[in-house]
Amino acid sequence: MREVICPACGALTEGESDDELYRATREHTLDAHAYDIPREHVLAAAVEAHL
Ligand SMILES: [Zn+2]
Repeated sequence: MREVICPACGALTEGESDDELYRATREHTLDAHAYDIPREHVLAAAVEAHL
């Protein structure tokens, strides 16, 4: 499981795979910030989830 913390609002998105993480994060940035985040940015910001 990997996760991304939104730099704009601190929301956490997560996914088991790169695709899942990208979809969850993009859905958040579109909904909350009207921002279509590039896949590379999501993967560059991804960290291992420890929970
Ligand atoms: Zn956000």
